[in-house]
Amino acid sequence: MPSKLAAGNWKMHGLQSSLTELGPIAQTAIATGVSTLICPPATLIAAASTPGLHIGGQNCHAQAQGAHTGDIAAQMLRDAGASHVIIGHSERRTNHSETDADVAAQAQAAWASGLIAIICIGETLAEREAGNCLNILTSQLRESVPEGATAINTVIAYEPVWAIGTGRVAEVEQINEVHDTLRANLSARFTDGKEMSLLYGGSVKATNAPEIFICKNVNGALVGGASLTAKEFCPIIEALAAH
Ligand code: PEP
Repeated sequence: MPSKLAAGNWKMHGLQSSLTELGPIAQTAIATGVSTLICPPATLIAAASTPGLHIGGQNCHAQAQGAHTGDIAAQMLRDAGASHVIIGHSERRTNHSETDADVAAQAQAAWASGLIAIICIGETLAEREAGNCLNILTSQLRESVPEGATAINTVIAYEPVWAIGTGRVAEVEQINEVHDTLRANLSARFTDGKEMSLLYGGSVKATNAPEIFICKNVNGALVGGASLTAKEFCPIIEALAAH
């Protein structure tokens, strides 16, 4: 069985004072036994270290070091205490023009530093409305996930771009169709593709989490806005524990 993971992406939110949210989130993670990850801004990674929680970065450079002002290397994340890193989030792909090839190189850099790569893929609304969604996603999966991916070093997050931060969540049928397709592709390509965790992301809240987690090939969630507070994130962890 793939491992369950409740992952929170704080994006460009959070100051030292926000870290008070982590205690109750860790308590829920421990009580439920659900592996729980918070990816705060890089400035908070070291300070966010909390027993019972995994801490991750939101992005890493493909190179180990160098003249890349403002970027962060995988080994720096690891050094600060991160165990995971989000790669290829749609906001990185859009705002920083990151391509599938960039994402694949970043994933390899993450693995080289001992980080688990959470590789994100997702279609735009125009791509979905053009009926092209599964082709687009299959291509993103093939090109963004390099050879060498295993159920230990990689998690895949399906995040429809039109559902991120919009309050518009994908229908359960849409999630099932995509996740079943991703599972089939991963199983065909990787020896342990059946064991790789598949997360859904896009406006996940406590109210919609239970129906999302019923989906056969959904093993958890990548949560943005609703991961910023324990009040909103803990019920999502509990919903994942229940399925
Ligand atoms: C995300 O940041 O990956 C995300 C899914 O955001 P939200 O939950 O706010 O839609």
